[in-house]
Amino acid sequence: MAAATAPRAFAEAGRRDTRQRRALREKLSGLEAFASAQQLHDAIRADGGKVGLATVYRTLQAMAAAGEVDTVRTADGETLYRKCGTSHHHHIVCRSCGLTVEIDGPGVERWAERAAADHGFTNVQHVVELFGFCADCSPAQSLPPTASH
Ligand SMILES: [Zn+2]
Ligand SMILES: [Zn+2]
Ligand SMILES: [Zn+2]
Repeated sequence: MAAATAPRAFAEAGRRDTRQRRALREKLSGLEAFASAQQLHDAIRADGGKVGLATVYRTLQAMAAAGEVDTVRTADGETLYRKCGTSHHHHIVCRSCGLTVEIDGPGVERWAERAAADHGFTNVQHVVELFGFCADCSPAQSLPPTASH
């Protein structure tokens, strides 16, 4: 898992919110893309669930701290959540439609291990995410990215 670490207190606080957690888990398992707390909140309310946005935020943070969901931060600083596979992986995320693919990064793993060893660090974690436009969202003609505007 590639989730950033969050304070352990979130995990403790989250244990009380089991009903919200179940609802969120259900919503997340039906999603391929990363989703924001607001989107998940909307989805639960659309099903008639009564839950506040603050509770959704808190529960998601607890789930991320427990390693139950992966998170990525967008360029706007918004945190997005996704239920992923359990083995270590990275993501490539479409900036336009949110399509997410789980990817391996063997080169990144080797580099991280060597860099940590070189500097005598242990228990090192890393977060590497790729953002771009998926095949469907990429413009048909392949102009260099800086050529527009
Ligand atoms: Zn993931
Ligand atoms: Zn896309
Ligand atoms: Zn990795």
